[in-house]
Amino acid sequence: MSKLIDHQDLLILKNISHIYNQDLQKIKVLKNVNIRVSKGEIISLIGPSGTGKSTLLNIAGLLEKPTLGTIIFSGHDCTKLSEDNKTRLRGSEIGFIFQSHRLFQEFSAIENVMLPQLIMGRSKSEASKKSKDLLTVLGLKHRLEFRPAKLSGGEAQRVAIARALANSPSLILADEPTGNLDAIAAYNVFEILYKLVKSLDISCIFATHNNDLAKLMDRKIVLKKGSVYNDKSYK
Ligand code: ADP
Ligand code: MG
Repeated sequence: MSKLIDHQDLLILKNISHIYNQDLQKIKVLKNVNIRVSKGEIISLIGPSGTGKSTLLNIAGLLEKPTLGTIIFSGHDCTKLSEDNKTRLRGSEIGFIFQSHRLFQEFSAIENVMLPQLIMGRSKSEASKKSKDLLTVLGLKHRLEFRPAKLSGGEAQRVAIARALANSPSLILADEPTGNLDAIAAYNVFEILYKLVKSLDISCIFATHNNDLAKLMDRKIVLKKGSVYNDKSYK
């Protein structure tokens, strides 16, 4: 699939409800959630643990199909896409960053950043160059050949940021990416991600429990018991 057309609203989540069926029990996680994400906007997603933040990010990232509702990405209705097209869209347009870095331990930093590019069909030399450039911007030029076990927590998360940006996505979904870091490393990781998404005009939803970081973002979405309190006054 070629790059999608430019659109003011990059992502629209319309009337999203989600129920998990767990051991004959129905867990209602999201209740009629409506969210619009503009191009280039960075939004904090906050709310207590267990309130559905990860579920919402997985749905926004087309990893989980919502029980009800529609996902519009760059004007395309994703609920109508085949699994193959969803996977392709995810690979080219969406980058994920998680609480733990989820890097492959047996690969070096540069190889971890190359992998998603090779999967999307980029040549090895192109992938290597792009990875090196990204890791350099992220201050890791001296860590290219290091495996994750030899990196600090903050460094590993910066490799994970590089990996998320490797295929030049238009949306980054970050699920408590600073949750395992001390305050200084958390701020540094946030700051570099913020600068990158702003300079590249990427949209970002950033789940966090850190109110100091949430205040630095364009807008705040508060999720409580599966519903959004999407009031501008929360900023
Ligand atoms: P948060 O990220 O805000 O902590 P989650 O989206 O992870 O919240 O979880 C919301 C609720 O859904 C929790 O009660 C959790 O136990 C439940 N849940 C999450 N994933 C699953 C799953 N795959 N199957 C069943 N229940 C789940
Ligand atoms: Mg979570």
